[in-house]
Amino acid sequence: MTTIHHQSLWGIDLGGTKIEGAILDPTDVSLANYRLRVPTESPKGYQHILEQLARLVGEIEQQSGMMRPKRIGVGTPGTTNPKTGLLKNSNTLCLNGKPLAEDLSKILGVEAVLANDANCCALAEATLGAAQGVKTVFGIILGTGVGGGIVVDGCVLTGAHGSCGEWGHNPLRGEDAPCYCGRSGCVEMVCAGPSLEKYYVSLTGKSLRLPEIVALAETGDEPATETLERLREKFAEALGAVVNILDPDAIVIGGGVGNLDLLYTPETRLAVQKHLFNDRFDTPLLRPTLGDSAGVFGAAMLVT
Ligand SMILES: [Zn+2]
Repeated sequence: MTTIHHQSLWGIDLGGTKIEGAILDPTDVSLANYRLRVPTESPKGYQHILEQLARLVGEIEQQSGMMRPKRIGVGTPGTTNPKTGLLKNSNTLCLNGKPLAEDLSKILGVEAVLANDANCCALAEATLGAAQGVKTVFGIILGTGVGGGIVVDGCVLTGAHGSCGEWGHNPLRGEDAPCYCGRSGCVEMVCAGPSLEKYYVSLTGKSLRLPEIVALAETGDEPATETLERLREKFAEALGAVVNILDPDAIVIGGGVGNLDLLYTPETRLAVQKHLFNDRFDTPLLRPTLGDSAGVFGAAMLVT
C-alpha cells in the first residue's frame, strides 16, 4: 500500500477524444474514489476544450461532494515549453502555441500542473504500477506513436526544453522514411503500429491491421514474420541508445505494440545487448500493470 499524506489527489487526462478525471484515495493512491469522463470534442476548438475541462471538474465536485484542491495535475498530448509556458508537439493541433497551464489555472480557479501524457504514464507505472519502488524507470509508449518518460526516485524528469524521454524521434541507422517532425528515419517511422502496417504493405501490397499481421506470423507467413523480426531488431537498436545513456533500473513498455509477446523474449534482450557499451543487459523489460488508468493516475501523482 502506498500512502501519501495529502488532502486529495485530483488528476485529469486530456486526450484527443476524451477527458478523464479522477480523485485518488489519499490513504491508498492505487484506488480511485471518483472517475468521470467527458468528450474532448477537439474539432470545436481550444476554448471549447477549456470549457469541457472546467465542466468535468465541476461534475467531479458535485458527485464527490468534495471541493477542488489547490493544485490539479493534468496530462496533455504534447509538452509545455518550460521557457514560454506554451504547449507544443501536440497531435491535438489546436492546443499548440497556447498557454494551456495558465488558461486552465484561470478557468479552474486553482493551479493546473501539466505534464506530457507519456510522462504521466511513466510516473504512474513507476509509483503505483509495474516498476513500483524502482529508482530509475524508462516508461515507453509504443503504439500509434512512440513516446517515453523518465522517472527518477518517483519524480518525472522534464528536461530543459520539456522533451525529456522523447526517444521516438531519434534516428535509426539505414532508415530514411520521412517523418512529420521534419526529419527522417525516426524510431516512430519504423516501430509505431502504422509504420509496421506500412512495411507489411511494402512487402506484399496487402493492407492489414497489426493484429492480423501478428496472427499471420503465428501461422508461419513469411512477410508477417519479417515485419515482426524487423520490429525486434529496430526496437532493440532504438532502446540500446537509451540504455547506453540512461542505464535505467527498469523499462516499462506500454501501448498497443508494446503488448506484443516478442518484445519480452530472450531474443529481444540479446538484440538489445548487441547495441550496448556494457557487456550485459539485465534490465527488466516489464509489461505495464495499470492499463488505461495510467494516464489519469499519473496526472494525479503530479501534485504529490
Ligand atoms: Zn520524427
